[in-house]
Amino acid sequence: MDMEAARIAKFLGITDEEFVARYCSKKGGKLSIICSDDLYCIFYNKDEGCSIHPVKPERCRDWPYYESILRDPESWEEAKDACPGISRECTFQEFKSQAAK
Ligand code: SF4
Repeated sequence: MDMEAARIAKFLGITDEEFVARYCSKKGGKLSIICSDDLYCIFYNKDEGCSIHPVKPERCRDWPYYESILRDPESWEEAKDACPGISRECTFQEFKSQAAK
């Protein structure tokens, strides 16, 4: 069991095995959180955002400071379009400066 999965399972008050069975799929040998029918993450709540915020996976904590976005202004624009949490006014240079801090 991976430590992130164990941490989320504990937060949800379920066993590690139950967490994996109910909320995960395996991709390339790694666990991934599944999406619901609307194609959003199963833990995304339209009103409250991430329902596992205190224990969300590392990859989610790093968002949007991914190497692929930091290197490519077009990817940055796509991320801004896709994520309501990113300011429309933030420039690519400002974004890179924030990431460096
Ligand atoms: S932050 Fe991560 S775990 Fe939380 S809703 Fe978004 S994708 Fe899911």
